[in-house]
Amino acid sequence: MQGICLLGATGSIGQSTLDIIALHPDKFSLISASANESVDKMAEICRRFKPQRVVMGSKQARDQLALKCQGLTTSFEWGEEALDSIAADPDVDQVMAAIMGFAGLKPTLAGIRAGKRILLANKESLVTAGKLFMDEVARHNVVLLPIDSEHNAIFQSLPQSSVGAHKKDVAKIILTASGGPFRAWSLEDMASVTPEQACKHPNWSMGQKISIDSATLMNKGLELIEACWLFDVTPNEIEVVVHPESIIHSMVSYVDGSVLAQMGNPDMKIPIAYGMSWPDRIDTSVAPLNLVEISRLNFDAPDLMRFPNLQLAADAWFAGGTAMAVLNAANEVAVAAFLNRQIRFLDIARINEQVLAGANIVTVNTLDDVFEADLYSRRLALDVITRGRFL
Ligand code: NAD
Ligand code: MG
Repeated sequence: MQGICLLGATGSIGQSTLDIIALHPDKFSLISASANESVDKMAEICRRFKPQRVVMGSKQARDQLALKCQGLTTSFEWGEEALDSIAADPDVDQVMAAIMGFAGLKPTLAGIRAGKRILLANKESLVTAGKLFMDEVARHNVVLLPIDSEHNAIFQSLPQSSVGAHKKDVAKIILTASGGPFRAWSLEDMASVTPEQACKHPNWSMGQKISIDSATLMNKGLELIEACWLFDVTPNEIEVVVHPESIIHSMVSYVDGSVLAQMGNPDMKIPIAYGMSWPDRIDTSVAPLNLVEISRLNFDAPDLMRFPNLQLAADAWFAGGTAMAVLNAANEVAVAAFLNRQIRFLDIARINEQVLAGANIVTVNTLDDVFEADLYSRRLALDVITRGRFL
């Protein structure tokens, strides 16, 4: 029986993880869960899965939840320290890191330092703290399994051991991208899209932030950096290919001309279950792939003119140090502003570019360097937005 700590339980990845736990009650048990403020959703989770400990983002949310869940033996907690503590709890074997954004970094590190198996959905934590993150994984001899579907596919297509230096005979990684809802749109049409249009992904159902990132291709940019850290490569060894059907989740090309791919219907339950059961495989209830029905798979090169975020991510990787934390923070602020209708869709990439160009990039020696860069860059992004300097 594997004890699961589910960070970000009320989100899209959280829900799919709960589906897998519910399908296999003999294999997995929900020990603890966290959410920021979704009290009603969390109350449902508590009644259904009866976790030992639950952490909310604020005291108010904790109190409301405790009131709704009277009669349960669950301990209701709140705040950052409690979040770190559930990830390191002795009854936990696996930590599913599914919090949205940079906020996921600290509790994920707490899980790593406690030696838990890490199921990494929260790409922002690896993107921002890359080297420190991977150093901690190595130091604590932790099994790190990528849940992001592309990285899970790459992992499955590489020689198996555990994530790290096993890129033997690999010529390059082919990272597939759906292209998002505006793949074929002109810049002129993209200028006036609404948050509702941008959140409507053609193939995947996901949280708001990652949906916007998919529409701007920043998601692929973050994934490019994520792949560099996970598989010890540089952007020069990664080819991004637009594949609108999202059936091939990514590929590995070998020196002999062989290309291995992982395919499946676009449903996050597949990579989640793979991470939870690795090195075995378990049922996910996802419909089998019907290739005749799909009939055609298409491929295209990404258009960096219309989607400059992808290039910005590669630039940030090559700039090194705090550049990736700077870009990520700018993007988190810009996406939130777009969702609040303060800026337009194409402004997101403009703000990211301005903040990356204007920030002072320094070497990352400690975690504090990453947190400082994040804070500084958020302020800079807000300033750029308030003054309309990106126009
Ligand atoms: P979501 O918005 O649906 O859920 C986010 C979860 O994090 C919620 O439980 C929320 O309460 C919690 N949360 C948000 N802000 C928080 C904060 N400041 N402090 C503590 N908790 C907070 O997001 P999602 O789509 O499930 O994505 C989660 C992560 O997984 C993201 O990093 C995303 O990039 C990654 N991911 C998601 C998908 C997907 O299909 N949804 C695929 C690949 C990777
Ligand atoms: Mg992905």
